[in-house]
Amino acid sequence: MIVAIVGRPNVGKSTLFNRLTESKQAIVDETSGVTRDRLYGKSEWIGKEFSVIDTGGYIRNSDDVFEEEIRKQVDIAMEEADLILFVVDVVSGITDLDEAVAEILRKSKKNILVVVNKVDNNQRILDSNIFYKFGLGDPICISSINGSGTGELLDKIVSYMDTQKIEEELDIPKYTVVGRPNVGKSSLINALIGEERNIVTPISGTTRDSIYTRYNKFDHDFYLIDTAGIRKKGKVTENLEFYSVLRSIRSLEQADVCLLLIDATQGMESQDLNIIKIKKKNKKGLVILVNKWDLIEKETNTSKDYTAAIKDKIKPFVDVPIIFTSVINKQRIHKVLEEAKIVYENRKKKITTSKLNEVMLEAISSYGPPSIKGKFVKIKYITQLNTFYPSFVFFCNLPQYVKEPYKRYLENKLRENFGFTGSPIQIYMRKK
Ligand code: GDP
Ligand code: GDP
Repeated sequence: MIVAIVGRPNVGKSTLFNRLTESKQAIVDETSGVTRDRLYGKSEWIGKEFSVIDTGGYIRNSDDVFEEEIRKQVDIAMEEADLILFVVDVVSGITDLDEAVAEILRKSKKNILVVVNKVDNNQRILDSNIFYKFGLGDPICISSINGSGTGELLDKIVSYMDTQKIEEELDIPKYTVVGRPNVGKSSLINALIGEERNIVTPISGTTRDSIYTRYNKFDHDFYLIDTAGIRKKGKVTENLEFYSVLRSIRSLEQADVCLLLIDATQGMESQDLNIIKIKKKNKKGLVILVNKWDLIEKETNTSKDYTAAIKDKIKPFVDVPIIFTSVINKQRIHKVLEEAKIVYENRKKKITTSKLNEVMLEAISSYGPPSIKGKFVKIKYITQLNTFYPSFVFFCNLPQYVKEPYKRYLENKLRENFGFTGSPIQIYMRKK
C-alpha cells in the first residue's frame, strides 16, 4: 500500500514523514544507522508494512509555492497512491491553499484522511474542529513533533490495507519490469508474453488493468505485474520523476523480482539508481537488463567493460545478474526468465543452522571484527530468521561495535558460500 502525504508547505509533512518511517526503523533496524531517504520510506505498524511518500519533497522552492504546483502533486498522488494523508496546521487554521487542496481531494474517490498537525496540547484539540468544514471526514489530531495521536493515525492507516492476497501459497514468482521511458519495457513484456497486449492507448483509462497476470511461457510459470506504460504515456510529462517514482513503488511493492531495464546507449543513470534504492528498501530481488544491445558496436571486452561500469555505479550491491538483451530481436529473453527464477529462489533460500555456523564461524575466525577501544567482539552463533528474504542474526557480546565494513565482509562471505545472487541480505548483530 502506498500512502501519500500532501498539503501546503510548513504544515509538518516532512516531520510526519520522519515519524512514520522511523517507527519502522526503530523496530527493525536500530543498528544499521543508514540515512533515510527524505521522500520515500517504509513504515510498519502492528506487523503491517506500507510505503510512505512525502510529496512535499518534490515541490521546488517550497517557500514560494504556486498553487498550480501543489495541484499537480496532489493530482498524481490521487491517481497513484492508495491512501492520502491531507496534512493541515491547527495553528494557522485554514488557508486559501488548504482550500484549494481540499477542493481537488473532494473530487477524488480515493481514501483520504484529514490529519490536523501541531495539536501539541489539549487546548488545540478544540481548534481542530474547523477542519470538519472540508467535508472530508473526521479530522485526526496529531502532533508530529511529540508523537501524540500518531498511534491512532497508524491504526487508521493500516485499517485501509488491502487484505486480499493473491495466491501467496503458490510457489510462483512475481516479476515486474521497470525502467525509464523508452528503454524497452513494453517491448520486453510483449516479447515475454507474445502478444500485443501492452498497447498504449490514448484513452485516459480509469480502470486499472489487472495488476497480476499469470503466464506460462518458455517453460516458465510466472506472474507479471503489469504497470509499464499501459496508460497515459504522453500525458504526464511534467513531474515525471515523481510520477515514475510512484509507479516504480507500486509495481515493486507487489513483486518478488524486479527486472530493471537500462538503455545500452545511455548507461546507468540517476533515475535507475533511484529504482535500485526503492528496490532495496522493499527487499526485492533484482536482474539488470542492458537492452538495445544491438545498437552497440562490440569489441572483445565491451560487455565486460559494461558490466564493470554498472557494478561500479551500484556498489556495494554488485552481486546481481546483468544480461545484455535486444528485446526487439528477442535476444536472451529466455536467459532473463532463467536468471529471474534463480534470483527468486535465492531470495527464498534457507540455510541450515549447522551449515551456516560451520561456514561463517570459520570465516570469522580467519578474519575477525576489528577491536574498538581495546574491546574485542566475539561472535558466537549465527541463525537465519524466518523472513521472506534472507536475514541473519549474528549473536555476539558487543553488537554495537560491529560496523558497516565488517558487516559487508560477512555479507560477502554469505554470498560466496551460499549463493544469494540478485537477492538482498540483511544482517543483524544482537546480544545473546
Ligand atoms: P512541511 O513543509 O509540510 O514538510 O513541514 P515541516 O515538516 O518542514 O515542518 C514545518 C515546521 O513545523 C517545522 O518548523 C516543524 O518543526 C514544525 N512542526 C512540524 N510538526 C509540528 C508539530 O506537531 N507541532 C509543532 N508545534 N510544530 C511542528
Ligand atoms: P518503454 O517506454 O520502456 O515501454 O519502451 P518501448 O518498449 O515502447 O520501446 C521504446 C523504443 O525502443 C521502441 O521504438 C522500440 O522499438 C525500441 N526498442 C525496444 N527494445 C529495443 C532493442 O532491444 N533494440 C533496439 N534497437 N530498439 C529497441
